[in-house]
Amino acid sequence: MKGKVQTVCGVVDPDVLGKTLTHEHLFMEFDVAYTPAREHERQLELCEFSMENLGWIRQNPYSHKLNIKLSDPPTTAAIANEMATYKKFGGGTIVENSTKGLNRNVNFLRELSKNYGVHIIAGTGYYVSAAQDKQTMKESVEEMVNFMAKELTVGSEECADIKCGIIGEIGCSWPLHDFERRVIKAAGEAQSTIGCPVMFHPGRHHEAPEEILRLYCEAGGSVSKMVMGHLDRTIHELDALLEFASLGCFCEYDLFGIETSHYALNLAVDMPSDAQRIARIRHLVDNGFGEKILLAHDIHTKHRLVAFGGHGFSHIFNNVVPKMLDRGISQDAIDRMLIHNPKNWLAFAK
Ligand SMILES: [Zn+2]
Repeated sequence: MKGKVQTVCGVVDPDVLGKTLTHEHLFMEFDVAYTPAREHERQLELCEFSMENLGWIRQNPYSHKLNIKLSDPPTTAAIANEMATYKKFGGGTIVENSTKGLNRNVNFLRELSKNYGVHIIAGTGYYVSAAQDKQTMKESVEEMVNFMAKELTVGSEECADIKCGIIGEIGCSWPLHDFERRVIKAAGEAQSTIGCPVMFHPGRHHEAPEEILRLYCEAGGSVSKMVMGHLDRTIHELDALLEFASLGCFCEYDLFGIETSHYALNLAVDMPSDAQRIARIRHLVDNGFGEKILLAHDIHTKHRLVAFGGHGFSHIFNNVVPKMLDRGISQDAIDRMLIHNPKNWLAFAK
């Protein structure tokens, strides 16, 4: 696999990938994030998607029970439509980050890829401990390594002739759960043997990314094949950001399109806007980290899909890139983030 990328349709050369979003979800169920609505709004948890309700759903995306399911027929149809527009607006590849605990569906990913000509890369591994069943919670490091290695080199759990192309997203909480410590260790061990790319979802605390990086590297994982996701909502101080970037992993801004400052999953944090994301990225680029930045929307709820009143998978190309150019980020730097960096990350090292 050295120098090659593994998609749900087989092995490809990294040069064919084109513009790549490195952190998205095309089929998942996000029940673990369900957050009860405030007492007087409880009846809205089951409301239908309508103009009247959309404002509430946007403010309370994890309280609306239909919104956290990307698995029903209206959603899979909406996602299929979006693949056609993604292709039309210049998209080449999507990395699908659903792992154990999020009800991944690799057969659907392959069908999408075949029907719409978009390269799709599936992830193996485990989401946060709160999303796991009792059986999975008992798995040893060795069992986890074997599970991930099999999905990367033999075939996935759901379909023997579809292989995964990355480990991740590996879900971590703050503080780290024992189960998650085992998963990080297993990810490091599996990476060192297989040479595959790895993606982490850090706990919602500014010290979480560095702790994960350290544990993964101690287990043998290569820092140059590792992505730290969700930096937008995790590290807010510019100096701390540069310090983290200097550790050598890829730094991902993957919540583009979320323009609501209220962040239900961590009330202590003001979710940055796209403009603030762009300013932080500009700071990283200006300080020499342009080769380490990756971009995505991490769509994981219905309301962010075009069919449900959202921005969709082409938002970065159509709205963010023009604003980046306007804010002094060069076309060259943008091409690095959307084409060259994903290619370098996704190619196996062994
Ligand atoms: Zn994700």
